[in-house]
Amino acid sequence: MNNLLKLKLLYKLKEAGVEYFDEFQSKEDINMPNELKELEKICKNCTLCDLSKTRTNIVFGEGNPNAKIMFIGEGPGYYEDKSGRPFVGRSGQLLTKYILEVLNLTREDVYISNIVKCRPPNNRVPTIEEAITCKPYLLKQIKIVNPEILVCLGKTAFHYLIDIDYPISKVRGQIFKLKEKKVIPTFHPSFILRNPKFENEFKKDFELIKSLL
Ligand code: URA
Repeated sequence: MNNLLKLKLLYKLKEAGVEYFDEFQSKEDINMPNELKELEKICKNCTLCDLSKTRTNIVFGEGNPNAKIMFIGEGPGYYEDKSGRPFVGRSGQLLTKYILEVLNLTREDVYISNIVKCRPPNNRVPTIEEAITCKPYLLKQIKIVNPEILVCLGKTAFHYLIDIDYPISKVRGQIFKLKEKKVIPTFHPSFILRNPKFENEFKKDFELIKSLL
């Protein structure tokens, strides 16, 4: 997004009463519970954006509430929307395989979530409004789970988590910082399914994650 658009959006948000906040100390955060189960209950009743109108289930996230690694995807797809669980479709199978085979961990050892908790129709990319509206839930999840490593699966996750809008191929395999946490962007598993020639890079990124554990 260019700077003019960003500025317009900031003015729009300001007009709507939103104030600037430290991301880990947001106003929303103060009113949010400090337990995942309680936070999930709030999420289940969320109607803050239009995605709530078309969802079957919210996909809050799952895994070890004390995980050292949190994977962040873009948003639920068809199977996730039906089941209420993140990454259970084909791309989820690939993610699970890499967690097992490269990290020597199980899905239950890590935490898996998404930028938006409701499925965008036809799996389109979430809009900036949807991503910003849903972000306080993710930030609170990060605060509660308190992982050391945040793995962004794909450009959308990386863009909305740390506000750097770069092609994933330019940033993958590098270590960024969000406060004291390491942020590692890599390809989205569904991209790897469509472009298997990039699987080697995907594997290298998992090896980097492993080396940091
Ligand atoms: N793709 C995502 O980004 N997230 C999921 O949960 C499933 C597919």
